[in-house]
Amino acid sequence: MTDTTLPLEGKVALVTGGARGIGQAIATVLAQRGATVAVADMRAELAEATAQEIASKTGRKTLAISVDVSSAESARLMVEKVIAELGRVDILVNNAGITRDNLIMRMDEKDFEAVVDVNLKGVWNCCKAAVRPMMRQRSGRIINISSVSGLAGQAGQTNYSASKAGVVGLTKALAREVGSRQITVNAVAPGFIPTALTQDLPAELKDASLKMIPLGRWGAPEEIAYAVAFLASDEAAYVTGHVLSVDGGMVMM
Ligand code: NAD
Repeated sequence: MTDTTLPLEGKVALVTGGARGIGQAIATVLAQRGATVAVADMRAELAEATAQEIASKTGRKTLAISVDVSSAESARLMVEKVIAELGRVDILVNNAGITRDNLIMRMDEKDFEAVVDVNLKGVWNCCKAAVRPMMRQRSGRIINISSVSGLAGQAGQTNYSASKAGVVGLTKALAREVGSRQITVNAVAPGFIPTALTQDLPAELKDASLKMIPLGRWGAPEEIAYAVAFLASDEAAYVTGHVLSVDGGMVMM
């Protein structure tokens, strides 16, 4: 029988963009539920500090990895390192993401490419690296972080919305490819969450956002992490190809 107090005991989780914000909350909650956690991020020092903080808070083993998910080679080395040091990879959370907001008239081609390279190609790179060992294990959980902007579109985010909508398509296609090996692939689409990514949004937009959210407030990073922890658990074994909105009701599909 599953130990419901520590549902992820014995599992190894890899969280990209895990050094801060939503990724840090995800890595923490997965460790609190019993997982060994690899915190992978481009900010290597911060990843190290976060991994240490999670280890001392939860008593779980953690590993910090320096990675640029937009590089296929870097993603491959990241997964290799997790397997070399922690033995396997059961849960991959593709959380690393960036914004470069601007109206299309003012947006540079480079800003489109940079966002798509990290948010969409980065997810593909990490999935490609992790799928082979998961296929061998005949088990795995992949959870991709999309966004309300990918579902409904957001003015000023043609690059970001396209990348996050792409993540939804990728999630569904991959879910079909690997389902026969009992690997599930799902997405979580957060609404507005206070992190470094959203701190510089104009005050008017922050105020206006509250009127679009039936629950009348922004979400906490932990509220995204709890949804990810569910999809990572054995209890979610029959859920795949799903996009779970965690947005206070902002986008109802
Ligand atoms: P954040 O900026 O606080 O954290 C993102 C992390 O990703 C950082 O630690 C950063 O160093 C890392 N990162 C960026 N580029 C990377 C790369 N190329 N390789 C490896 N790591 C990289 O932002 P956040 O708000 O915590 O966002 C986490 C995820 O949630 C992102 O995918 C974001 O698009 C998504 N999201 C956030 C919100 C929100 O309101 N904050 C809403 C919807 C979706």
